[in-house]
Amino acid sequence: MARIKSTLDAFALGVARDYFPESALARVEARLNEILEKADLSLDGFYYCPHHPNGVISEYAIVCECRKPKPGLILRAASEQNIDLANSWFIGDNLSDVEAGHSAGCKTILIAQGNQSQPQMSHLGIADYILVNLSIAAQVICKHSISNC
Ligand SMILES: [Zn+2]
Repeated sequence: MARIKSTLDAFALGVARDYFPESALARVEARLNEILEKADLSLDGFYYCPHHPNGVISEYAIVCECRKPKPGLILRAASEQNIDLANSWFIGDNLSDVEAGHSAGCKTILIAQGNQSQPQMSHLGIADYILVNLSIAAQVICKHSISNC
């Protein structure tokens, strides 16, 4: 069975807005890993963007390369985790996820549960698949996998 690299790329707007300290994200990562371990899963990396141009903490109130739809977090994860982006999938629930994934060279899945407002479509914002949940996304990825999961 092939080892699948998995990372979580999150956007922590609350850090720049001073809702919680950046250190709180370590607890989020730890809790997430606890939940995943129960399902015999793990993450290879946990990446987040703490920035927002309108943030109230000056060190985070910047225009950065890691905030979606820019692909900075994905590119960093790929570099640090030795991930082949051309053979990777980026899954998100927002069109900016899709755009970031395509910009990084990944195939993309948009999880859409009817909660999208009028999306602004661009050529980068069209997902390879639009699916209703992660379970179906996993099936689609397995179908495309050379190892057939
Ligand atoms: Zn950032």
